[in-house]
Formats: sequence, structure tokens, C-alpha cells
Amino acid sequence: MENKDYRVLLYYHYVDIEDPETFADEHLQFCKELGLKGRILVAKEGINGTVSGTVEATNKYMEAMRNSELFKDIMFKVDEHDGHAFKKMHVRPRKELVTLRLPEEEDTNPQELTGEFLSPKEWYEAMQREDTVVVDTRNDYEYDLGHFRGAIRPDVKTFREMPEWVRKNKHLIEGKKVLMYCTGGIRCEKFTGWMIKEGFEDVAQLHGGIVTYGKDPEVQGELWDGKCYVFDERISVDINQKEHVVVAKDYFDGQPCERYVNCANPECNKQIICSEENEHKYMRGCTHECRVHPRNLYIQEHNLTTEEVQARLEALGETLEKQEA
Ligand SMILES: [Zn+2]
Repeated sequence: MENKDYRVLLYYHYVDIEDPETFADEHLQFCKELGLKGRILVAKEGINGTVSGTVEATNKYMEAMRNSELFKDIMFKVDEHDGHAFKKMHVRPRKELVTLRLPEEEDTNPQELTGEFLSPKEWYEAMQREDTVVVDTRNDYEYDLGHFRGAIRPDVKTFREMPEWVRKNKHLIEGKKVLMYCTGGIRCEKFTGWMIKEGFEDVAQLHGGIVTYGKDPEVQGELWDGKCYVFDERISVDINQKEHVVVAKDYFDGQPCERYVNCANPECNKQIICSEENEHKYMRGCTHECRVHPRNLYIQEHNLTTEEVQARLEALGETLEKQEA
């Protein structure tokens, strides 16, 4: 068996933090002392973090958090890993934990108003009922890598666009019990409150999010297809322990694929799903402009000559001149 000496912790907690700036400074010191790496956001409304570290360091961190008055009810999702999942340690004060930027009169406090929490088992059963509709509250690229079978894919690039999407697509969800889910639960805890305020009466959320659902010994991630996008160096994690259905598609040819690369144009750096074969064929560029970009990293890594670049482009029906014209 592989040696997993490290862990990745995913967590959030909606709780009043009076002075996020000071809290962030002190918390950063604490995390650094423990040797953790990761990204933590702190706001007046709470904390949201992903950190990696040794088993010992992460244990100390969880213990210290649970022993504090503010975070005694915090829920950690723990993954084993073979190293750090981040390069640095950041703790940043923010206005919001998840960027929704609601107008003041629409803003909700998850500590006061939020949708019904469903355990993984309850979620699994509710999903399969006729009177429910499942809505993914994540972004389009997250959905495309993996999602609950039959879930609606809101066509949104960022979480901020969700309220507008709901208003325009009321007909898809009205009259049903709305089941909402996200990676760890933080987005839904806020957004289901907004939904209720907006007039939807029966709104529920998956407690602990997709990640918790995948670890549940009973449901074992069943009815999840594909992988789950995560915001650290792992890029994605497995959820369904019973079967693996690939739903993601190669950016270039639409074939089933779950391999992520970044566009070789450092100014673009867009994350794309593509096979090794297509990475070579397209010189890891998401567009013609990115393929012929003077700083294309793929061309540098492979020491391609101008002739070789030209030959690859020709195979795609493109030329260098086209771009210069
Ligand atoms: Zn690109």
C-alpha cells in the first residue's frame, strides 16, 4: 500500500469573527508554526479553508480549532494524500467567504436562515424521488468534470451568477423540492437561504457536500458520475466508490477524458481537459493564438524548432503566417 503521510483538510464554518484582519494574521502564524500549507479565507461571517500537512500537524490543527469557542462545531473533511497539496500558506481577510455580492436587502445570514440539511443517506433517497429536482450550485467547469446523475447544470461561470440564473430558470425548479449541492457545503449553506428568501418553500442541501457524500460508508458516493473538482493541486478527487462513469470530455475532440492540463500560453493558462495525444497534437494551446504564442511553454519544454511547430500547425490546417497576417 502507498504511504500516505499527509492529509488534506477541507472545512468551513459560518460564525461571527469580529476582526477578520487580526484573526487572519494570527491564524497565519499558527498555521506556519504547524507547517501547514494551503488557502484560508476569513470574513466577518466565518472561515473557509483547505490546508495540507502531516498527519501530526493536521491533527494538532483540528484539535486546536475544536477546542476554541468559535469553532467547536466545525466539521473537517479529511483526505489522505502523499504530500502537500499547496505550495504556500495563505490566510486572507475577505468581505465574503464565497463571492456572491448580493445587494444588502437580499443578503442572508446562514446562521439565521438556511435550507434543510440532508444526510448522505437522506440525499440519496430524496434524489430518486419524482417530486424533487437536483441543482448543482457550482460553476460550469466543475459540473463538466463530474456531477450527480440527472442534476441540472446552471450555465454559470462564477457563483455570483447563480441568483440571476435561478430567476431566469424558475420554470425548471418551481413546484418541486429543490435539492442543492456543492463541493463541501459552504456555497449551499448561503445560497439555500437566499432561495427561501426568494420564495422557494422547500429547499434542501447536502450536508457536508459532495466530499462528505463520497466518504459516507453507506452510500459510498453512489449516483455520482465522474470526478469532483477541488481547489488545490490535486485538481480532482474520486467520489463514487462503487462505479466510475466518465462524463468529462476532451476539449479538442469530445472523447471521454478526465486529464487536466493548463493551456501552454502563460497569459491564458486556462484549465482544459485533454488526452496526452491531443496535448502533443495541439501543442497544449487552447486556441490557435495560444498555440503560436511566443511564450508557449509546450514549445519551450519540447524544444520544438520553427519547422516542427509549422508541421504541427499544418496538420491542424493552421499556419504561422495566419496569425501574423
Ligand atoms: Zn489558451
